[in-house]
Amino acid sequence: MKYEWMDQALCAQVDPGLFFSEGPRNTSRKALRICSTCPVQPECAAFASALEGDLTAKYRYGAWGGKSVQQRAIEGGTPQVDARDEQIIRMTNRGMTPGEIAEQLGISDRTVARVRAAHREQEAV
Ligand code: SF4
Repeated sequence: MKYEWMDQALCAQVDPGLFFSEGPRNTSRKALRICSTCPVQPECAAFASALEGDLTAKYRYGAWGGKSVQQRAIEGGTPQVDARDEQIIRMTNRGMTPGEIAEQLGISDRTVARVRAAHREQEAV
């Protein structure tokens, strides 16, 4: 799923690793500074809120929409876990192919496919 506003996302122009820090307490301040100047921050925040509201906490990870994991967890009421899977879902939502995701993260296409399938199942519930 890719939206027009995503073409203006500043995070798409920098090292994605900034936005995918490991663990719930490691949201990059640099990522949040980038978010604070992003022209599509409102759209991104609304998208993140809607998406995370439909998912388990498993998928809440990294800086997104100008907010840290902790900020979004407080708003959503659940903690986050499993950083890699969240990263795969975010990259998928940015329109990246499984092959591109696998290459960037240094994991197998099969792992990407497994995580995406689990995500689809959760969305269907
Ligand atoms: S507000 Fe959203 S789209 Fe903009 S830089 Fe931050 S995470 Fe990326």
